Amino acid sequence: MATPLTADALVSALRSEGVHVTGRSGWRTHNRNSVDAWGGVNGVMIHHTAGRDSLDLVYGGRADLPGPLAHTHLAKDGTATMVGHGRANHAGRVAQNAFDAVVAESSTHPAPSAASGTVDGNAHFYGIEIENLGTSGDPYPAVQYDAAVRWAAAICRAHGWGAHSVVGHKETSVEGKIDPSFDMDRFRADVAARLAGDPDEEDDMKLNDQVKIADWVSDAFPNQEGLQDGQISVQTALGSGYGYAHIAADASKEILAQLIAQQKVLDKLVAALADEG
Ligand SMILES: [Zn+2]
Repeated sequence: MATPLTADALVSALRSEGVHVTGRSGWRTHNRNSVDAWGGVNGVMIHHTAGRDSLDLVYGGRADLPGPLAHTHLAKDGTATMVGHGRANHAGRVAQNAFDAVVAESSTHPAPSAASGTVDGNAHFYGIEIENLGTSGDPYPAVQYDAAVRWAAAICRAHGWGAHSVVGHKETSVEGKIDPSFDMDRFRADVAARLAGDPDEEDDMKLNDQVKIADWVSDAFPNQEGLQDGQISVQTALGSGYGYAHIAADASKEILAQLIAQQKVLDKLVAALADEG
């Protein structure tokens, strides 16, 4: 059980995890706190919307179920829109046995049993509604799925929770909910993989070695100009036979072209030296 994050802390955590966050006007004070409790919090719950153009619905709710219907709405393009902060109508009654597994961060999540009793899920879970029809004909774009993983990981990281604090609505509901339509064990594994890494580190920047270009260009081409240290760096995977250039934000494609041309010169030079030997 933990104290809920403030709105600012939540947005900050999501952005640190690489989530593209925006907010529906008024979301910071849009909640159901006047009806019942919000917090302490124990986990995060994943949903799919079962509809398109669902942002208005997730914000405003329906006549029989007032909004917000989650804390965050996640569009197909991966944009996370904050729709509420505080108690939200998303989790409903959570089976006690499913809740206990979350609290214990159990590696197994039992089928929800009404016989075990229920708890007020809306008090204890952050919720995200992922826009998806929930059918096999509506895949989750990679950018959307990745953003959902990051959203869940961000909240877990902020609270010091592991991936087993993440559950799907279908894993907790005693009302026969079927969302989300993807496999939750795989989703938790993806959250766990993110939590094991550094949120500031790019996924594709795991190569073994990094050398600044000025170090070797100045040796190989003492008369060359136009490449400045700090503008560009070359990362190589030593021993695996490949390498690539990582261009700093302010470097141009022209510099990369120049680098490639210089590599060709270097290759010729090496070939010529080999011939002489
Ligand atoms: Zn749901």
